[in-house]
Amino acid sequence: MTSSTAAAVSATKPGNTTEYDAVIIGAGVAGLYQLYRLREKGYKVRVIEAGSNVGGTWYWNRYPGARVDSQAYVYQYWFSEALDKEWNWSERFPAQPETESYLNFVADRCDLRKDITFNTRVTRATFDEATSHWTIETDGGETLKTQFLITCAGMLSAPLTSTFPGQETFKGQVFHTARWPKEPVDLAGKRVGVVGTGATGIQVIQTIADKVGHLKVFQRTPQYIIPMRNPKYTDADRAAQKAGFAAMRERVQRTFAGFDYDFHPRNVYEMSQEEKRQVLEELWADGSLAFWLTAFVEVFFDPKVNDEVSEFVREKMRQRLKDPKLAEKLIPTTYGFGTHRVPLETNYLEAYLRPNVEIVDVKESPIVCVTPEGVKTADGKVHELDILILATGFDAGSGALTRIDIHGRDGRSLKDEWNKEIRTAMGLMVHGYPNMFTTAAPLAPSAALCNMTTCLQQQVDWITDCIGYMKAHDHKVIEATKTLQDQWVEHHDDVANATLVTKTDSWYMGSNVPGKPRRLLSYIGGVGTYRQKCDEVAAKNYEGFAFS
Ligand code: NAP
Repeated sequence: MTSSTAAAVSATKPGNTTEYDAVIIGAGVAGLYQLYRLREKGYKVRVIEAGSNVGGTWYWNRYPGARVDSQAYVYQYWFSEALDKEWNWSERFPAQPETESYLNFVADRCDLRKDITFNTRVTRATFDEATSHWTIETDGGETLKTQFLITCAGMLSAPLTSTFPGQETFKGQVFHTARWPKEPVDLAGKRVGVVGTGATGIQVIQTIADKVGHLKVFQRTPQYIIPMRNPKYTDADRAAQKAGFAAMRERVQRTFAGFDYDFHPRNVYEMSQEEKRQVLEELWADGSLAFWLTAFVEVFFDPKVNDEVSEFVREKMRQRLKDPKLAEKLIPTTYGFGTHRVPLETNYLEAYLRPNVEIVDVKESPIVCVTPEGVKTADGKVHELDILILATGFDAGSGALTRIDIHGRDGRSLKDEWNKEIRTAMGLMVHGYPNMFTTAAPLAPSAALCNMTTCLQQQVDWITDCIGYMKAHDHKVIEATKTLQDQWVEHHDDVANATLVTKTDSWYMGSNVPGKPRRLLSYIGGVGTYRQKCDEVAAKNYEGFAFS
């Protein structure tokens, strides 16, 4: 038995207290890598994971049609070329089971499970100023002491499951997409309702439309979409990707959104209509988020350029919808393209052309409640259903941490503070919470606008280096200064407010959760720029962070 296994065993007994260098919350993309990095350095580490297995997002989101929107060759770990050589992606945008398998494969190869406690939630974390350690309590009755608390709890992991009054009275089955059961759900011949047409709802709808008896889609806001081009990979494709591993690892770190592509180099204002059209057509044909994240950077800033691109997408959608009434319902007009997350789709619009699919406009007549029979809308109509699927999204960015009772210096509560205003220092720490590092937290690109694997690995590397620096200099405590946090929030807001993203309501702005303070969750200065800023801070002996 290794020392860490021994520690794990004693920690699982209620009433026992075990001391760690670091406790990590979550065994998803970030948590697995953070465990790997810290263990590699010889630290005593424990991961607490609510699920019964590794995977995070890819463990929880097993709804029909769940699929990654990042190309497989950039949605992976970069720390081991040997792992890359061994793993073979089947297609460009793999479905959830394949991504989940990949994360299981990494956990197995790196022997990560022995330091993970599954089926356990962290309920409370308290910083003790006398010892400069965190006390972590779990719903299993364990107490862990740790010098560092590292949150790898995901940015989309607190699902909005209780959306409507009366859900508990429904005679049929209700599923939130992020809590989809592992056992198959029989949809055949059933009257199914889907609430929500975000990236998740779209994947569900296009996947189940031809499997259910009748499908009612309760849509509040229509979406701009990009058709996904998802070819199967050949051996030659895979060989080329493996040969390009090192170059790709370098490339993704410097682009705007952590993908291998970046914005079109030419100034849009100097391009003719034909040239612009050609760029858009080529990117449209690529069938990826490149259409959004590489066409013209001005899409994010300039209403006129945004209008042009929005109209291009509307035109593409109109061509497929044919029926003007349907087009009116499904084509967005009230906000600009790309001002919130653009979903990729496959035959999504065509689903509405099927005779068994019906769209219910819940902007016009909002959902009032769920009754034993189905969904009741404001017009008094009860939409009778057997199965209700809530694709209603998440309390993004902050929700993963505010649902844990976290107390920092002077007993301050993160939940209370973030209920008033969401502030972080570079998304890596929060002033007042010493020795707590965060990944996928607000005000970093990893809170939303990023190819997640790129951004999470960057944050994990930064945190690991910072802990190494502390150990080397015999520092026991690190805290982001108020000055650094204030400066970062100001910079973040300056960058954000120059964009059109802050003018559109979506989970990016926190506006999907009633009462949530409004601020762009994700740093939008670019992944490459963010990395550079983090590296500069580290190079200046972690300027802006106070040590003791
Ligand atoms: P979302 O984008 O927040 O969408 C939630 C949907 O539910 C919206 O259409 C929203 O309408 C609707 N809704 C919420 N409350 C409602 C209510 N009371 N009445 C009617 N409609 C209601 O959530 P999501 O689709 O789960 O996606 C979240 C994020 O997860 C995505 O943006 C993406 O970043 C990520 N994701 C990624 C992938 C991928 O990589 N393939 C797949 C799925 C999700 P309104 O817009 O009107 O609020």
